Amino acid sequence: MNYLSTRNKQLSVTASQAILKGLSDDGGLFVPESVPVLTTSLEELSKMSYKEVAYDVMSRFFTDFTEEELKNCIDRAYDSKFETANIAEMKKADDAWFLELYHGKTIAFKDMALSILPHLLTTSAKKNGVKEEIVILTATSGDTGKAALAGFADVPGTRIIVFYPKDGVSRVQELQMVTQKGDNTKVIAIKGNFDDAQTGVKQMFNNKELNAALKEKGFLFSSANSINIGRLIPQVVYYVFAYAQLLKKGEIKSGEKINIVVPTGNFGNILAAYYAKRMGLPVNKLICASNENKVLFDFFTTGTYDRNRDFILTTSPSMDILISSNLERLIFHSAGDDSDKCAALMEELKKTGKYTITEDMKANMQDFLGGYASEKQVSEVIGKIFKDSSYVIDTHTAVGASVYEAYRAESGDNTVSVIASTASPYKFSRAVVGGLLGKEFTKEDDFELIDMLHDLSGVELPEAVKEIKTAEVRHTTVCEVAEMQAEVEKTLA
Ligand SMILES: *Cc1c(COP(=O)(O)O)cnc(C)c1O
Repeated sequence: MNYLSTRNKQLSVTASQAILKGLSDDGGLFVPESVPVLTTSLEELSKMSYKEVAYDVMSRFFTDFTEEELKNCIDRAYDSKFETANIAEMKKADDAWFLELYHGKTIAFKDMALSILPHLLTTSAKKNGVKEEIVILTATSGDTGKAALAGFADVPGTRIIVFYPKDGVSRVQELQMVTQKGDNTKVIAIKGNFDDAQTGVKQMFNNKELNAALKEKGFLFSSANSINIGRLIPQVVYYVFAYAQLLKKGEIKSGEKINIVVPTGNFGNILAAYYAKRMGLPVNKLICASNENKVLFDFFTTGTYDRNRDFILTTSPSMDILISSNLERLIFHSAGDDSDKCAALMEELKKTGKYTITEDMKANMQDFLGGYASEKQVSEVIGKIFKDSSYVIDTHTAVGASVYEAYRAESGDNTVSVIASTASPYKFSRAVVGGLLGKEFTKEDDFELIDMLHDLSGVELPEAVKEIKTAEVRHTTVCEVAEMQAEVEKTLA
């Protein structure tokens, strides 16, 4: 199976080349030339472990990997780094099933893909005769950087350098990063904001002289970007696994359709659910839940995507996004895999900040339903679910839960529903404690709030939280924005 660019179908590469490149040369995203069919029966899948489902699903997409290569990647990714042997857990509350995707190293769902990406990447390098050591260069506003660090730490053949804005991340986020172990990791604070960090990193990626000099020394830059097919496909796995688990528990009959609700930002996680449906998983609605940055809700209701609006800071920061990059893949598919049409719309987005899809394309998106939750609704649903079911959810998951409740009340649809639970409540304890007690907490520091959440909920503290209280600080470099490149050169000297 080959991968095509969403902006030029003639550009076709293998899976391992797509993983290595990340983005197509024409700026498009790689998509599978056809979506493979899940030929293993649902009954068989219900008897499989997470790793076995992972192999069954991923081997249909990454067809140029040998069985040994892919199984090796899966074994190294889904091991004791996860705090539960099942890797993903299902919990019932509020008449829905919460699919807990946060039992990895950084207690958020990005671990599900970032724990396997480094292995897919180094295997792809080997397969394509790349001799250089891979250097992951990332700018982070907090969460992605840590998840990438945890994924790449001590992976042979890789180095990772992460830049973050010194005063632009929370105390817990900073501690998570500066205590990162692994001889191949480097974390650097910059005296600037997130945009400065991102611009600096982009300049290094595009600096031909720098790239040539590093190649001499045996290094090759790469990114752990969320549009990489090596992050998207591993996310298809847990939707198949969730269905199989519901079947195993006797909660659904084989072939019975389920709804999937996903708190959405960059549109990667819900797109994975869409691919699961296209593979043949029995899915009814794909419910796309947004926070107050509801650009996707507006898109699904009107057919117009319009990023020209104010950016709102919410208590679900990982969903504070106005450009959902992965939506481009759905645009391509809904246009009947027409890359010219897709390229034209993306050009319009670049020029005017908006585009409108055709009625035909809209009709091809009938599986999707958009909803959004206000900050007040998010806070209230956290309190309500705890009161009714003694179950605590984080703010991102609460966006999903709130949208789900509204959909159920409005539609009367009683289909068994799975809500993707994307972060541990401990990661966003300030807003979660606020929701549980129905008031705002502004003065308390992060650790006080973590203790309060523990006392209130009785939920065991994840290792990731216990660790940072005592872990040694290993990264202390702080630099000016103008010194970023010099720091990279020093690190790779
Ligand atoms: C990244 C993230 C999301 C959004 O996922 P997308 O794939 O970008 O739509 C939701 N919740 C949490 C906690 C996240 O870290």
